[in-house]
Amino acid sequence: MKCPYCEFRCELSTGHCRCQMYEEKDGQVVEKYPFQWTRCDAVDVEQIPFFHVHPDSRFLQLGGFNCNARCAYCINANVAIRPQEVFTNRLLPAQIVDRALELGCIGIHLGINEVTVNLPSALAVARAARAKGLLVGCSTNGYFTPEAAAMMAATMDLFNISLKSMSDQFLQEHTGLRSAAVVMRNIEYLASRAHVEVTTPIVQEGNEDEIPGIVDFLAAIDPEMAWHVFRLLPKHQMTNAIPPDVGQIAQLVEDTRKKLPFIYFGNFIGSTWLDTVCPDCGAVLIERLCISACGARFIQQNLPAQECPGCGRSIPVLRTPGRDNQQ
Ligand code: SF4
Ligand code: SF4
Repeated sequence: MKCPYCEFRCELSTGHCRCQMYEEKDGQVVEKYPFQWTRCDAVDVEQIPFFHVHPDSRFLQLGGFNCNARCAYCINANVAIRPQEVFTNRLLPAQIVDRALELGCIGIHLGINEVTVNLPSALAVARAARAKGLLVGCSTNGYFTPEAAAMMAATMDLFNISLKSMSDQFLQEHTGLRSAAVVMRNIEYLASRAHVEVTTPIVQEGNEDEIPGIVDFLAAIDPEMAWHVFRLLPKHQMTNAIPPDVGQIAQLVEDTRKKLPFIYFGNFIGSTWLDTVCPDCGAVLIERLCISACGARFIQQNLPAQECPGCGRSIPVLRTPGRDNQQ
């Protein structure tokens, strides 16, 4: 029996399971470790990052372990690739939802590892969260099957999808994933059904030349989409790699901003690329500060509705009152 969740479609009846998270039992594909988590705490939405979702709100960050990819630069390798190093805790959906509500979160976000490798548990949490009026989002490498994409689209509201490259060769060499077309297909599918933001980690001398092509691809799907260009600091098996050149990437991004105005470039102190700026009049609508690792910290906003107060241009940011109003 083949696993239906990601495009590796492991043949579980032969005992092959790339992510180590599923097995065949009584003719069914089941999780080996249902509802086992490595992380369950509140984070700012800007840290996930979602920049076009309810600025200055909090989400309960729920993380599992293991992954279907093997990124040479994985920042969470201890959880995603070497999970024997971390503790796990069993929490059922109702407990997780209660915790989110207690902590003043407006939603639950599944991340840290790849959500596809514990999808049945993730979907059960998502259903319980939605029943209590919470939003549900996830961060994913996007390598799931159309069947899994349909389940996720029916159960979750927000997706941050990592488009690591549009080159199969790059993917195979740096991440262990095989086909960029799978990820691109899923971005297109989910963007027509839910809120999608895309993240691309830039590996120096690896994929920076792809920036114009990725912009063309995303702009054709939705020219208002938020794209996070992530200056990847060499980690895991790439600690000897060259850190990406901020000036070079900034220039590449600047050259394409007319096609895709909501590009964010971060993961380095001093980034001036994390604010949401009106593409028409240049007003700064949401100010953010780069913190040391990925994501950002909210500073302030001047966006009382979904349009620029200066010129009236529509701004594609989902909005709720600030955190103080959620307690
Ligand atoms: S989710 Fe895991 S078991 Fe299923 S196909 Fe992907 S790697 Fe294989
Ligand atoms: S997809 Fe993400 S979690 Fe998985 S190995 Fe790559 S960087 Fe790590």
